[in-house]
Amino acid sequence: MKGGYDYIIIGGGIAGSFLALELSKSSKVLLIDKGPLLGGATGSSAEIITLQLPKPFINWALESIKIYEEIGAPLKRMEAILATNEKCAERYLKILNSVNVKSWILTRSEASRESGLTLKGSNYVYLATLDALLEVGKLGNLMRLLLTSNNADIIEYKEAKIKDEKIKIGEEFIEPTQAIIVAGGAWTPYILNIKAEELAGSRIYKCEAHSIDLGKKLKTIFYEDLSGAYMVPESSKTATVGDGTNVAISKPEDGFVPTPGSVYEVLEGLSRAVADVENAIPRTSWAAPCLISGDGWPIVGNISERTYIFTGFDGVGLMIAPALARMLSAHLLKGRKLPQKIYPLRKVKPWEGPPKEPPEPYRFGC
Ligand SMILES: Cc1cc2nc3c(=O)[nH]c(=O)nc-3n(C[C@H](O)[C@H](O)[C@H](O)COP(=O)(O)OP(=O)(O)OC[C@H]3O[C@@H](n4cnc5c(N)ncnc54)[C@H](O)[C@@H]3O)c2cc1C
Repeated sequence: MKGGYDYIIIGGGIAGSFLALELSKSSKVLLIDKGPLLGGATGSSAEIITLQLPKPFINWALESIKIYEEIGAPLKRMEAILATNEKCAERYLKILNSVNVKSWILTRSEASRESGLTLKGSNYVYLATLDALLEVGKLGNLMRLLLTSNNADIIEYKEAKIKDEKIKIGEEFIEPTQAIIVAGGAWTPYILNIKAEELAGSRIYKCEAHSIDLGKKLKTIFYEDLSGAYMVPESSKTATVGDGTNVAISKPEDGFVPTPGSVYEVLEGLSRAVADVENAIPRTSWAAPCLISGDGWPIVGNISERTYIFTGFDGVGLMIAPALARMLSAHLLKGRKLPQKIYPLRKVKPWEGPPKEPPEPYRFGC
């Protein structure tokens, strides 16, 4: 195997790929994935880029959108409608206005017309804004092209292990001159041979999504905010649906097995706001492992002099990972400080998940 790398990144999901892209502008980079680039959780995502995020994450999300636009990523801006209560609508409006993101209140009939859905429920306030969908499948090819033109090397379908601060691929060892960055998503603790809890009290759980036959065209992204369920247009009569249900798993591979019947919980949440969902037919379900820290903040920084971690994105990786990749790259290349609150070995009580309150950045008070 060729040597001479400044940085070696393990894991080519949204996190590792964008970090490789940033670092390869001025350094020699090797990116390794045991599957295809942008497979893992990234390849199974519902592709939503939303700004209805905890306040501390919004600036990262805006920066990520800028980065997607800079590289010509297949990002489609799309109206999103949030069915929520009055208190939350006010809260979201205030947050979105403070970062100059256009958002406005719709009546139920306007929201029905815009979304193409028959909306019901008397207590909802409908908040519209502009979200985006990222075509992850197309981004993979663009990423290979961009990385190759920056002279980065990519190894796909090869598993990497770490031993004594060296990387083992098959029978060969390789060592970078500057740093190893583990961006292995839910596999990160396994790559490092440590317990998930040791990384900021993190835990591994299953993120799930489903395809449903809606029988009509959904024209916007739609969220039932009170149950946390979302709907994304798929083809002319189908939609992708999901929610933030948290099912802990003991090893990442279990994260690929969808929970039987979980689609019905999502449909139940959505059916409080959307009449059409009552007749929807579930088609397929899929799942992948996600990782969340005990306090909900991402996990970014070094755990030894030359070994870095870049993970902990819960269900918002597409929105915040590119911005954090730029931040980590500025730290590695220019010595810029990283915020202490995302330091990987911070002491945090492990995340226990619902029904308790969500961890800190997700506490909207809604
Ligand atoms: C069903 C579902 C819906 C979601 N919807 C959204 C959404 O709409 N919007 C959003 O922002 N987020 C969403 N998410 C969450 C988002 O997908 C994650 O936050 C994000 O993809 C995490 O990216 P990552 O790069 O950290 O991890 P991953 O994408 O999992 O990448 C880690 C990579 O590391 C590789 N790897 C692991 N071990 C090794 C090893 N030993 N050697 C080499 N390579 C290795 C894996 O093959 C993988 O490619 C969703 C997730 C799922 C599963």
